[in-house]
Amino acid sequence: MIKKRILTGDTPTGKLHIGHYLGTLENRVKLQHTFDTYIILANIHAYANYYQKSEKINEDVYNVFLDNLAVGIDPKIATIFLESGIPELYELYGIFLTMVKHSRVIRNPSVKEEILYKKLDPSVGFIVYPILQAADILGFNADLVPVGEDQLPVIEQTREIAKDFNQAFGETFVVPEAKVGRVARLVGTDGKLKMSKSGGNAILLSDDEKALRQKVMSIYTDPDRIHKTDAGKVEGNPVFIYHDAFNPNKVEVEDLKSRYKVGKVGDIEVKEKLFIALNDFLTPIRERRRYYEKRPEEAKEILIEGTKRARKVVVEVVERVREKTGINKLIK
Ligand code: ATP
Ligand code: MG
Repeated sequence: MIKKRILTGDTPTGKLHIGHYLGTLENRVKLQHTFDTYIILANIHAYANYYQKSEKINEDVYNVFLDNLAVGIDPKIATIFLESGIPELYELYGIFLTMVKHSRVIRNPSVKEEILYKKLDPSVGFIVYPILQAADILGFNADLVPVGEDQLPVIEQTREIAKDFNQAFGETFVVPEAKVGRVARLVGTDGKLKMSKSGGNAILLSDDEKALRQKVMSIYTDPDRIHKTDAGKVEGNPVFIYHDAFNPNKVEVEDLKSRYKVGKVGDIEVKEKLFIALNDFLTPIRERRRYYEKRPEEAKEILIEGTKRARKVVVEVVERVREKTGINKLIK
């Protein structure tokens, strides 16, 4: 039986965090056994954020690569690759750029939101990043795209491009589905709507115990609760959102919540227990990361081989696009 295909990935703008885990990495790890899985290290997307920082981007590519391996992506069954190693993706991007209306691009809510929280004077490449992302996804004819909620408008735009192309040139692309994780959008440690690697409000998958403790202890909680005897709000409180997501001891979480609501537990105890739960969650992830950190040659080989394997898939799809459009007919 032919396996259905997954394309997913991250922009290397920093190390990955627990929001990525809940939004998409957890699904990647689970689904890699049943789907033919491709994971993109989207370095051109990072260029669209800040092309001048190419050194930093390379560093971040490597970190995001290790983060994926660390959470349990098995390079023997899933393929991790570097976006810029597949120039055919640019070719597809170029064709899609000719198809999408300017008015459609500038009303994409994902792009608008990101421009605001990153305080960007955005490059043209940034504004049209959903079109590059469409090329990344459709270049693999992916069936499923595990993403966080903030990316849903981008997947919607990808689906439109697939349909428009199919209508113009005949059935070519699978129209992909998005798959959102257990927590669609994890709140930041500062209480802001989205934990984000560019936002400085993230608990990283690679944080050591010391950094983790310091971050957990400074998580924003209920701002109206001054003393530990004040009744506190549990709903929407980042500390409890993280407890719900990462503390496997549900009885403990319920106990903390009920005491918090009536002013019978202090922030310190709630945070100390969260620290323990998160630290247990991160321990095996840190270990796998260390395994690859100690074996850079093995890691590099995985990336080189992965990029070659991924490119073969895209080359086939792009060849079909050339035939369907007849774009190179006159020089054949
Ligand atoms: P940046 O701020 O540079 O955009 P990011 O933290 O949003 O970085 P991306 O590389 O853009 O990370 O996103 C990678 C994947 O992780 C996407 O599928 C995105 O939807 C998901 N994701 C990012 N942040 C969260 C979050 N806070 N909760 C759930 N999923 C998230
Ligand atoms: Mg993002």
